[in-house]
Amino acid sequence: MKKKICIIYTGGTIGMKETEFGYAPVPGYMEKTLRAIQEFREPEMPDYDFIEYSPLLDSSNITVENWNQIGKDIREHYCDYNGFVVMHGTDTMAYTASALSFMLQGLSKPVILTGSQIPLCKVRSDARENLITSMIIAADYNIPEVCIYFGGKLIRGNRSTKVSSDMLIAFDSPNYGPLAEAGVNISVNQQRMRTEEKELNFCTFENNQIAVLKIFPGIQFEIFENIMTEKLRGIVIEAFGAGNIPQNDDSMLRMLQKAKENGTYIIVCTQCYKGAAVIGQYETSKHLADAGAICGFDMTVEAAVTKLYYLLSKQYGEKEIRSLMESDIRGELTRSI
Ligand code: ASP
Repeated sequence: MKKKICIIYTGGTIGMKETEFGYAPVPGYMEKTLRAIQEFREPEMPDYDFIEYSPLLDSSNITVENWNQIGKDIREHYCDYNGFVVMHGTDTMAYTASALSFMLQGLSKPVILTGSQIPLCKVRSDARENLITSMIIAADYNIPEVCIYFGGKLIRGNRSTKVSSDMLIAFDSPNYGPLAEAGVNISVNQQRMRTEEKELNFCTFENNQIAVLKIFPGIQFEIFENIMTEKLRGIVIEAFGAGNIPQNDDSMLRMLQKAKENGTYIIVCTQCYKGAAVIGQYETSKHLADAGAICGFDMTVEAAVTKLYYLLSKQYGEKEIRSLMESDIRGELTRSI
């Protein structure tokens, strides 16, 4: 029987047209164009149903509610298709891919996010290849994961990050090799794949207050003390190198103590492109250790933020959140100690 997939079109450059205010998505245009392109009707292409969101989004405007909507649509139609392709803007695609990987526990079929750097309406667009290969992978490959397919590589969603605002290879997975590469053939690295699970378990996210703080030399922590309220449920700290912060005075420690008193989870990731945070490797991570910070190891910030949303939404207790945050639950983290 011919394979069938579901395309969920959320917006992004891929379907945009030039307007007097710059590129913007145009309702109805994408589906009409796809139906008219011969390649999408070739016998090796799967059949597809097309769900278009309204309004179509520039992905910079994506919200937790939009993530919940995408997750709900996949769950609702889960049994009807061989796989799913989510067309999405590139700006926040890595966040959405990470969020969906946590929301959709126990996947047994592919959920592939893709988009393009140049709109489909342009001659040099990268949209065709990204979309065609995503559709083929979603239909024909046994990949039980949320992934991004872009620029010839299939990467795990919660390991991905946007690395270029203008090159056609816009995404990378710095701490985990690609799951597949599409050259003349599509070659899958089966060893890197998570094992298929049997039962889908879906959970929506609550919009809890979370912050991300990138450390830089000369940072004046007093500026951030006011955000340390009881409402702040978690803060991801992008520390230097292996998880280090300035300790030449007590201002960071005071801020961290306030977070601790409020019950705010402090997660430490590295701001390096590659590698991991390891609390305790250098003396300059002592304040973090004293404040009970959680180690994010080699998680991307996108994965750390969305995992925090997920664990908070599951209503786990403190002990469980701490332990799960430091554990590999969807292939998002490698413990280095
Ligand atoms: N601003 C666009 C978006 O994220 C960029 C893109 O799709 O490439 O929706």
